[in-house]
Amino acid sequence: MSEAASRPRIGVYPGTFDPITNGHLDIIARAARILPRLVIGVAINAGKGPLFPLEERVALVRAETERVAQASGTEIAVAAFDTLLVEFARSVGATVILRGLRAVSDFDYEFQMAGMNYRLAPDIETVFLMASERHQFISSRFVKEIALLGGDITSFVPTLTRERVLERLGGGAA
Ligand code: ADP
Repeated sequence: MSEAASRPRIGVYPGTFDPITNGHLDIIARAARILPRLVIGVAINAGKGPLFPLEERVALVRAETERVAQASGTEIAVAAFDTLLVEFARSVGATVILRGLRAVSDFDYEFQMAGMNYRLAPDIETVFLMASERHQFISSRFVKEIALLGGDITSFVPTLTRERVLERLGGGAA
């Protein structure tokens, strides 16, 4: 076996995770089925005006993914990054970038990002995964909007995240 083939394949799953949703978790569980090591990269993404500060997004992703790591045996690390994605991937030894694909609306952006990242780092492959039908339509943005307007977000996010969203929006227990 060549040296490259014997190295464990490491994947990076980047995102804003503001907050982590059941859609993200579905993608993470799928990635954990095919890779022995996964690094979830939480982007600072100040431009998106996140609801949660970076440290809290990282802490929530860490807490909510513990169970996936245990169940799959895949090593899952969570780290914040504010560099180019391909640089972050290289810094953790990853050769695969994972992205989730929802509807057609994601395609254009994801297509451009994958193409440009490939040009920047042809040794790193972008792989797209689809969440189950149940979770495909979930987005962090709508979770926040629904919660803000007093709607029930129970089926969109994991338990701890739901509590934190409600606390942050000052909605108390709903
Ligand atoms: P970004 O700001 O990079 O889009 P997000 O946290 O919104 O960060 O999403 C991270 C990745 O997860 C993206 O590839 C996005 O398409 C994917 N994703 C988010 N929600 C879902 C979902 N419900 N089903 C499948 N993929 C998803």
